[in-house]
Amino acid sequence: MDDHEAPEDQEFAFETQAIHAGQEPDPRTGAVMTPIYASTTFEQDAPGEDRGYEYSRTGNPTRAALEANVAALEGGEYGRAFSSGMGSINTVMNLLEAGDHVVTGDDVYGGTHRLFTQVYDQYDVEFSFVDTTDPDAVSEAIRPETALVWTETPTNPLMRVVDIEAIADIAHDGDALCAVDNTFATPYLQRPLEHGADIVSHSLTKYLGGHSDVVGGALVTNDGTIDERIGFYQNSVGATPDPFACFLVLRGTKTLPVRMDRHCENARDLASWLDGHPDVDEVFYPGLESHPQHDVAARQMDDFGGMLSFELDGTLEEASALVSSTEVFTLAESLGGVESLVEQPAPMTHGAIPKEEREAAGLTDGLIRVSVGLESVDDLRDDLEQAIDGAVN
Ligand SMILES: *Cc1c(COP(=O)(O)O)cnc(C)c1O
Repeated sequence: MDDHEAPEDQEFAFETQAIHAGQEPDPRTGAVMTPIYASTTFEQDAPGEDRGYEYSRTGNPTRAALEANVAALEGGEYGRAFSSGMGSINTVMNLLEAGDHVVTGDDVYGGTHRLFTQVYDQYDVEFSFVDTTDPDAVSEAIRPETALVWTETPTNPLMRVVDIEAIADIAHDGDALCAVDNTFATPYLQRPLEHGADIVSHSLTKYLGGHSDVVGGALVTNDGTIDERIGFYQNSVGATPDPFACFLVLRGTKTLPVRMDRHCENARDLASWLDGHPDVDEVFYPGLESHPQHDVAARQMDDFGGMLSFELDGTLEEASALVSSTEVFTLAESLGGVESLVEQPAPMTHGAIPKEEREAAGLTDGLIRVSVGLESVDDLRDDLEQAIDGAVN
């Protein structure tokens, strides 16, 4: 479980790539850290003869370092950075045409669901939302006009695990692209391109940035034609990150392996403790052997991540009381930072979904989602213990 091999075809191990890929000491000054190139424009030697950069929306050296870094970590040849995770997802959608059909998960990230149903719907793109943990359901949803299968794994907030290889095969049999949102797992734990995906998408805002202080997105592919089209839309639409944001994410990716190790260790510890707690009905964590897709997760991931959720044996109000009374966990949306966060999906991240639909999808009133941070796991456990006790007793 703790053996993290180099991404395929790469000389150096993941930990080494995280620190060095895409980055060289600055040739002019020797600066060890990639400078923040705040310049919007770049001198040309003669009209059309630039030195690799002309205008910062089109390309910027700090951004190029980040793009190369994230691509290397995913074991991909081409990387592109965006101003947010939604910016990167939107750019994948730009590859589609009116009349195309997309198969996706019935529990995709809320922002992705909104983009699909409220933006792309009006451009005559059709969607089928299915249980992507069931390859047969994906297979049955494929139509002649299906151009994309979009999935994420583990999913939010029930930590369902999707078999990427099975889904990619189904997509390719139907002449569709397979894109995977790898935000929850990060490339340290799972590299979708190695399992047949065509495009990997990230919200850099989460684990890759890692410190809850920068919003960003990225796409990685091994297909030069797809990358060229992504690059065209990146420049044409302009959802590009500023160089300071790129610098912050680059600083984050350097410590990704050590952070993820601790996120996983703390989450595993809390998951097994919660699993035996008398006031907890169910724990959703792919590392638990009772998890319905534990075998897929064990095969596809190097470890099980820092996100978990659990169902309090109690009412909406009791669950609200729990998340409001933690001292170490902060009550907030988002995830993947060094600090532990707790939230209640029903009234918060998934509040827009009507109650019946929400409950049918397993998002009950007592469900609580946790982004396990890097604090002492003893303090985290004690904090949850006092919050659960106070809420239900
Ligand atoms: C946060 C998130 C996004 C959106 O990313 P932003 O950076 O907030 O735009 C997409 N997918 C997943 C799985 C996320 O957690």
